[in-house]
Amino acid sequence: MLENKMEQTIAQDELHEECGVFGIYDLDGQDVASTIYYGLFALQHRGQESCGIAVSETQGPKGKVSSFKDMGLVNEVFDAEKLERLKGDIGVGHVRYSTAGASTRENAQPLVLNYVKGTLALAHNGNLINANELRHDLEYTGAIFQTTIDSEVIAYHIARERLKVGTVEEAVQRAAAKMKGAYSIVVMSPRKLIGARDPYGFKPLCIGKRDNSYIITSETCALETIGAEFVRDVKPGEVVTINGEGEISSDMTNAIDPCKQGRCIFEYIYFARADSHFDGISVYDARIKAGRFLAQDSPVEADLVVGVPESGNAAALGYAMESGIPYGTAFVKNSYVGRTFIKPKQSSREQSVRVKLNVVKEAVAGKRIIMIDDSIVRGTTSGLIVNMLKEAGAKEVHVRISAPPFLWPCYFGTDIPAREQLIAYNRSIEDIRDLIGADSLGYLRIERLKEMVSGLPICEGCFTGTYPLAPPTEDIRGEYER
Ligand code: SF4
Repeated sequence: MLENKMEQTIAQDELHEECGVFGIYDLDGQDVASTIYYGLFALQHRGQESCGIAVSETQGPKGKVSSFKDMGLVNEVFDAEKLERLKGDIGVGHVRYSTAGASTRENAQPLVLNYVKGTLALAHNGNLINANELRHDLEYTGAIFQTTIDSEVIAYHIARERLKVGTVEEAVQRAAAKMKGAYSIVVMSPRKLIGARDPYGFKPLCIGKRDNSYIITSETCALETIGAEFVRDVKPGEVVTINGEGEISSDMTNAIDPCKQGRCIFEYIYFARADSHFDGISVYDARIKAGRFLAQDSPVEADLVVGVPESGNAAALGYAMESGIPYGTAFVKNSYVGRTFIKPKQSSREQSVRVKLNVVKEAVAGKRIIMIDDSIVRGTTSGLIVNMLKEAGAKEVHVRISAPPFLWPCYFGTDIPAREQLIAYNRSIEDIRDLIGADSLGYLRIERLKEMVSGLPICEGCFTGTYPLAPPTEDIRGEYER
């Protein structure tokens, strides 16, 4: 009975990142669509609902953009033929998971906008908290929207500003100055590639270079994948522009006092890939540190430390290194779960979690296990995994979480459910331990978050209820669907 109830909610028991962005400009005039494809493939963990690519020829007629976008994973949406048809030496790509705006084909990105100065294509990661106001501003002046996503609001504001200023990068800066919330965006204009990161630096954004190509993308893992070198991070509040001569110009007009910045700490804990780094901190190192802190703050005697893949693995290794308890592999994960995968029915004997994750019985039977995971949201998945370890013969299961308990919503692009649905809401650690059936339970202490990233200013709002900027007073999610 408990398992059936758990199965009902299991599909919603994972947190999702909103999006990943990838932009490239090849100054030698080579086609870039296939490179964008591989870049997006490396960013697939940031969004699995839809994806798209838009390209243009910088020497061709101004305003001619070829694009394709659809629902599904990168390798489901694109094939060699579709990529072949996308001709252009400048382009942007996007992978999406919807936290605001419906999950439909129209809302897939990049967003392509034709206006009097030519064509803009834009890809956006993050969530604006004043998107409704910005949208109403435009609607009162006659704009008609095709989608329900923030990105279209951003694109319209850029287009409107472009009519008042001399360059597209000035227009991006002026539009960005009006936006409140989290955004890392890449914009393709007919002859320039532009990146902008919000002043708080909620979401990562970096610049790379491969031969005579320049890249602006969400994570460094995408640079590694395409064989590009990391040039630098886009700074919080910065607008960077790459022109046809390969010059990178920077505008810091929108920057704020660095002490007030607020990088999403959950990028380091869970969202970003372990082989990425941003703002000088390696995601892998941050996770190892979290594991070490857990071993220091919540020690327990055991025979084996295991991680729940993928993001629990590095923290588990950190715990093992600090405690001296051996690190092992208890789970085998099947990652080939695409959008079209048929979820098991409640009545069927196959369970969602088991379809994705299996326990290696030989590794855990008869042992006291420390299981490290990155978070407990509603608790349904954690309960099932603890149960699976016990069924496989584990003598004890001690759960350690490389984040503090989730207690508050996120307004900046993470789909944390309503407070009442969070397992930690109004419950003690002992209550949670009991609910998930663990022998002991320990969370990362809040004070450790900043230490994880060597003192970088961070957002930890979903754990503390205090955000880098005042949250909206109304529910900003899904208004356009109502
Ligand atoms: S509230 Fe949490 S998930 Fe949202 S940006 Fe802040 S740290 Fe990240």
